[in-house]
Amino acid sequence: MVEVLGRVTVVGGGPVGLLLAGELRLGGAQPLVLEASDGTERYTRSFGQRAVNGRSAQTLALRGLVPALEAAQTAWAAQLAAAGQETKEGDQLAHVLQMMREGRSKGHFGGLPLGTGSGDSGRAYMMKQHMLEQVIADWVAGLGVRIETNAQVVAVHDEGTGVVAELADGRSLHAGYLVGCDGGRSTVRKKAGFAFPGTPPTMTGRVAAAQLSDQDTLATVLRGPNGLVNGLMVPGEITTVEFDGTGPTEREAPMTPTELADSMLRAGGMKVTVARLDSGTRFSDNTRQADTYRRGRVLLAGDAAHVHSPIGGQGLNLGLQDAANLGWKLALVATGRAPERLLDTYTAERHPIGARVLRNTRAQVALLRPGPQVDALREVLTETLAIPAAHEYFGALVSGADVDYAPDSAQMLVGRFLPDAFQPLAVEHMGDGRFLLLDLVGSEGIRAAVDGSDRVRFVYCKMSGADVTALLVRPDGYVAWVGVDTESAGLSEALDQWCALPSARSSSGG
Ligand SMILES: Cc1cc2nc3c(=O)[nH]c(=O)nc-3n(C[C@H](O)[C@H](O)[C@H](O)COP(=O)(O)OP(=O)(O)OC[C@H]3O[C@@H](n4cnc5c(N)ncnc54)[C@H](O)[C@@H]3O)c2cc1C
Repeated sequence: MVEVLGRVTVVGGGPVGLLLAGELRLGGAQPLVLEASDGTERYTRSFGQRAVNGRSAQTLALRGLVPALEAAQTAWAAQLAAAGQETKEGDQLAHVLQMMREGRSKGHFGGLPLGTGSGDSGRAYMMKQHMLEQVIADWVAGLGVRIETNAQVVAVHDEGTGVVAELADGRSLHAGYLVGCDGGRSTVRKKAGFAFPGTPPTMTGRVAAAQLSDQDTLATVLRGPNGLVNGLMVPGEITTVEFDGTGPTEREAPMTPTELADSMLRAGGMKVTVARLDSGTRFSDNTRQADTYRRGRVLLAGDAAHVHSPIGGQGLNLGLQDAANLGWKLALVATGRAPERLLDTYTAERHPIGARVLRNTRAQVALLRPGPQVDALREVLTETLAIPAAHEYFGALVSGADVDYAPDSAQMLVGRFLPDAFQPLAVEHMGDGRFLLLDLVGSEGIRAAVDGSDRVRFVYCKMSGADVTALLVRPDGYVAWVGVDTESAGLSEALDQWCALPSARSSSGG
């Protein structure tokens, strides 16, 4: 029998698979990433640009990746500047993106700008997707994670005591658990029998590396006759969205210059000649979510678990948060240090968040449809966004700052990401992916609860004026427990529930 303890197969080496593999490694598991492509595809499929939202940036900050994010964004800004990319007067979409690059915006909701006053203080970053993937890939390489390219998984079998991945080259690889991070058309999801309910496409998006015969006619049209054209977001790329009611009828055939020109006319009313089209891809607002993120020893994360329109830029961020939530839990369970029930909290916590993103992206698609009724809706929403509380609500929605894994908790901080005031401490102490127990008052009882534990880092940091005396922070940055006095009431239970700490288990009788 093959020894599978600690082994986890991660299918797909996109951003989500890579981050998950890093988190698993930090947690003590042995992940193996199987990536179907040869690795170079990362660059060619990197159309458009990506907003790494405030929450994702805070998550990556815990692993010390802010300098790399800064460098990637600076490199991207330099490329835009070198291409002479300028925001034209009245070009709303380009204006929002420019503001995001400068750290002055959280993003947009259906093209309506959201300033930094909204939501949390986490800063968003703009870059190409392959740049973000490189940031994560470099970190993962430093952790010694094994990645196999040209390794396409064609079938998975959950054998009860382990999972077998069958590869196109005929090999069978065994592991204790397997996670499908293999994108929207996930083989893992289909082969493992996950249901994927949702709503079919109503729009066709196209993005292409293309040039017009007269580049000066290129513009961005947000409210076109039947959609939008984004000609200025990324130098050399043109994006169109058409509300055709059907979605792309053709997925695989290469895009032609005529197809793009016709789409620009229908969507934005722009009469142009496309002189050159090097490559292009189509997308839609197909909106679906797996019914559960775990079936036995097979789990899903990222686009494999949920797909939706890219409008609003949340898919990547949603997937990164799946990986951050799952990584430490699966590492504990796969290495035999925590019971299976910890894995059930993955679907319980992440599925509602995914459903919420599906809802808000559907709403954003509706807000971009043509017609006077939608124009009126946009005006009403623009007025609403002028109300600070509403602005904050929408900002938190798109930046992921409103995530609350324990909405019913009596303690407001429990289930929420660590508050801003403590984040520098977390960044300093959580690079190795362990739990953090922050003691703000110097309590013996709190320290004693984790004495000798290798899963929890204890840090005493005197902080007067805080509403709490101590915090237990999970490896993903979310608060598991707060102390309100020098006693440690509830701490053993939290340690037992989240990190199955042996001493805590015995002291709590669990
Ligand atoms: C035009 C466009 C703009 C977007 N803009 C944004 C944005 O601004 N912000 C945002 O948050 N999101 C955005 N998104 C969404 C974002 O790109 C995706 O959500 C993100 O790439 C999902 O990451 P993933 O790792 O889950 O999947 P993927 O990036 O799809 O990676 C899956 C990986 O699995 C591999 N794979 C597939 N099948 C197999 C197999 N059988 N065996 C082994 N490997 C396999 C693939 O080769 C790939 O490397 C946009 C998407 C599009 C199309």
